[in-house]
Amino acid sequence: MSLAPGAVIGIIGGGQLGRMSAMAAARLGYRVHIFCPEADAPAAQVAAACTVAPYSDHAALARFAGAVDVVTFEFENIPTESLALLASRRPVRPSPEILAISQDRLREKRFLNDCGIATAPWRAVEDADGLARAVAELGLPAVLKTTRLGYDGKGQAMLRDPGDAGIAFAALAPRPLVLEGLVDFAAEISVMVARGADGAVVAYDAVENRHKHHILDLTLAPAPLPVELLSEAGAMARHIAEKLELVGLLGVEMFVTEIDTLLVNEIAPRPHNSGHWTLDACPVSQFEMQIRAVAGLPLPPATRHADAVMKNLVGPEDMALWPRILATPGLIAHHYGKDEARVGRKMGHFTRLFPRGALPGAFGIEDALRLR
Ligand code: AMP
Repeated sequence: MSLAPGAVIGIIGGGQLGRMSAMAAARLGYRVHIFCPEADAPAAQVAAACTVAPYSDHAALARFAGAVDVVTFEFENIPTESLALLASRRPVRPSPEILAISQDRLREKRFLNDCGIATAPWRAVEDADGLARAVAELGLPAVLKTTRLGYDGKGQAMLRDPGDAGIAFAALAPRPLVLEGLVDFAAEISVMVARGADGAVVAYDAVENRHKHHILDLTLAPAPLPVELLSEAGAMARHIAEKLELVGLLGVEMFVTEIDTLLVNEIAPRPHNSGHWTLDACPVSQFEMQIRAVAGLPLPPATRHADAVMKNLVGPEDMALWPRILATPGLIAHHYGKDEARVGRKMGHFTRLFPRGALPGAFGIEDALRLR
């Protein structure tokens, strides 16, 4: 199936990822219908249609399915029954099975390890005794995480000494939980990979991600790391996409350890914040690649014509810079259309491009982004 211009792509979720996907879809002649619980969501502002209803509203989901040609998502925490309902009526890409794996850290880790992909050492934790056993086996420090509904560092607690275990266990729900050995990483990187309906796989260059208060702050494209390591990261992401029989786009987050080995932390079967640089540095962005895959179009190579630094604009502090960002030549500004800049809320981002090979080294990034 390949969708002709004029077809309707349904997107579950109304945030900035859906907004940028809808803009990419419009450029290819498609109409986008958003399904999300909030009125005036960032994606709805740029879409042809929007259904405002809870993700559990089966009648609204059925009407939505009837109004679209294919369904994809920009938000992962969709109830399983809602996805099953959609999948019984329309193609859902990526498949509900892939979403189920990525929604559950235990399934995700089992899947990755079964594919021969290394992760941080981990143990499933059902109860307090299980946590004591897991701590004894993995040692400390370690990170205790919920298996579901975690994002941006939410739903996790650091265990530094055995006394931390009881409080952390009591604070985290739903259970089971997962205990992960703390990785002493040299860098965090990610790869965006797409697989088309015809099985063709393309991957963007691996990028480095730097976080502030557990939220992505900067992405450096390409990651300033040895090329062999970056090509290994790309190969791992392709392997995962193939094993999942993905049709769509997938973000693969990895840790680079001090001895240059790669451990996969998480996968996300949707556009990813660490892929926003592709809007400005690549002929085909991650959003267009997602739309192409979902619509059954051919996937062009994921080439990059420039190096890039992407800076997230989070909360009121970063948004106070908006007028200066607009006034600074060379900064490419993106606003998500959210009216209230609450603390920790992703409001927009900007990108600065550099000639290929000219990305400033480790100590030049802040200088490179300096505002006028
Ligand atoms: P997550 O919700 O799993 O993406 O984790 C959010 C962030 O917490 C990651 O980007 C890392 O910076 C940090 N983190 C998570 N798990 C680990 C781990 N096992 N070892 C070290 N850092 C971690």
